[in-house]
Amino acid sequence: MDSSQTLTADAPLPEVAGTEKLLLSLVALGLLLLLPATFDADAWRARWCFYAALGLLSAGTLGWAAWKYGRKPPGVHNHNLWLRASTSRGAVAWVTGLVLTGFYVILYWFSSPDDQGNFGPLNQLVHALDPVSQLLRNRPSDQWFLYGTFYTLAILLMGGRALWKYRHSPYHLIRTGVLMFFQLGFAFLLPGLLLAFQRPEFYFSYFWPLKPEYLFPDTVGYLLKDGGPGLGVFMVFWTAVISLVGVPVLTYFFGKRWYCSWVCGCGGLAETAGDPYRQLADTSRTAWKWEVRIIYTVLVVIVLLTALLWVGASGAVPALASVTQPLSQAYGFAIGSVFSGVIGVGFYPLMGARVWCRFGCPMAAYLGLLQKHFSRFRITTNGAQCISCGNCSNVCEMGIDVKQYAQRGEPIIRASCVGCGMCSTACPRGVLNLENGPREGRYQGSQLIHADSLRILS
Ligand code: SF4
Ligand code: SF4
Repeated sequence: MDSSQTLTADAPLPEVAGTEKLLLSLVALGLLLLLPATFDADAWRARWCFYAALGLLSAGTLGWAAWKYGRKPPGVHNHNLWLRASTSRGAVAWVTGLVLTGFYVILYWFSSPDDQGNFGPLNQLVHALDPVSQLLRNRPSDQWFLYGTFYTLAILLMGGRALWKYRHSPYHLIRTGVLMFFQLGFAFLLPGLLLAFQRPEFYFSYFWPLKPEYLFPDTVGYLLKDGGPGLGVFMVFWTAVISLVGVPVLTYFFGKRWYCSWVCGCGGLAETAGDPYRQLADTSRTAWKWEVRIIYTVLVVIVLLTALLWVGASGAVPALASVTQPLSQAYGFAIGSVFSGVIGVGFYPLMGARVWCRFGCPMAAYLGLLQKHFSRFRITTNGAQCISCGNCSNVCEMGIDVKQYAQRGEPIIRASCVGCGMCSTACPRGVLNLENGPREGRYQGSQLIHADSLRILS
């Protein structure tokens, strides 16, 4: 890895060039146009503002990424991250966080359609997407289609930025491309097409316990009934087999990265739209303690809830029926809405992009337990080469103090590591290697170096 791939110390903020100002003003204009798109009472004008906003946001973001990163030599250049208000919890970050959390609050609790099909404050935005929704899903748009469109667009546009930024790394090029593919194909187009063919809106890239309802008795019954004899059975079979067999097998071979950094939509958003915020993850021991307390509690709760729902559905304990539904709703509210949405994405600019994955996601907890105790995946460290620059810890979105492991030459076997590979990419000394190979013959860290040294010396 050449020196251009290193992170450098903070320097005074450089002047923003004219071209960059122009491209960023396209993004700003796009964001501003979302206001008339939301509030203009004239539906026709609001719709045109909406599409103009999306066009400007897309052109501005992709143009800015190409201009900004295309002019530099390839490599990780995270200059001035702690000087910019947008990436160092400054005023821009707070405003962004407030807008994001505000959007999620409105989406979850104030945009359900009334009797006239009015989606509250999001009504104009929702109906602006009617033509697209008709084309894809053969039905008018709703608040979740609007959300899915924004979410997918964010991954595609910021994925384009990531492709430019990390174009020197085949690993990140392929990984980012795969994340974009899964979001567009499996989390946007395919569920829409299923609806168009009068089938359940099913997400083949989400599994229990991240999407816990897929193994709840009500949903299983609904899929079997509305999915038809072939497709419905396949959907239930897919969920059960992947969740209970596929996840352990794939995690044994590849660690949790096969899902968290290659397939999952939450991970997809974190790796693309959340990339500018990866340095904000808290690396303190206190944060780690809370991480362990909360995430495994959520996992235990969802396992128990799933079991209770099945016992209740079996009729073996009639009293359970009155308890399990409210519990399920409470879980959906607290974990599905507040934690994964409002906090998970809304706090990106303040706490980093993996708040949900790190503290709340039961799938990450399940995968993490497997990764730590059962998997072949680990990050090996060549401690003798480490110069203690700290680049690796700075880019770790899961708040792992990678440098400490590297300095000691210890392999990193952490339940929380999502295997994004960014620590390895940012290291100027090639100290860190993500490995899936069998344990025998694998590089063991500094112990092996010492053994080799002794052999050479003897
Ligand atoms: S330790 Fe490295 S691979 Fe793991 S999450 Fe942190 S940056 Fe990504
Ligand atoms: S492993 Fe050492 S040399 Fe490499 S980025 Fe981390 S601190 Fe720097």
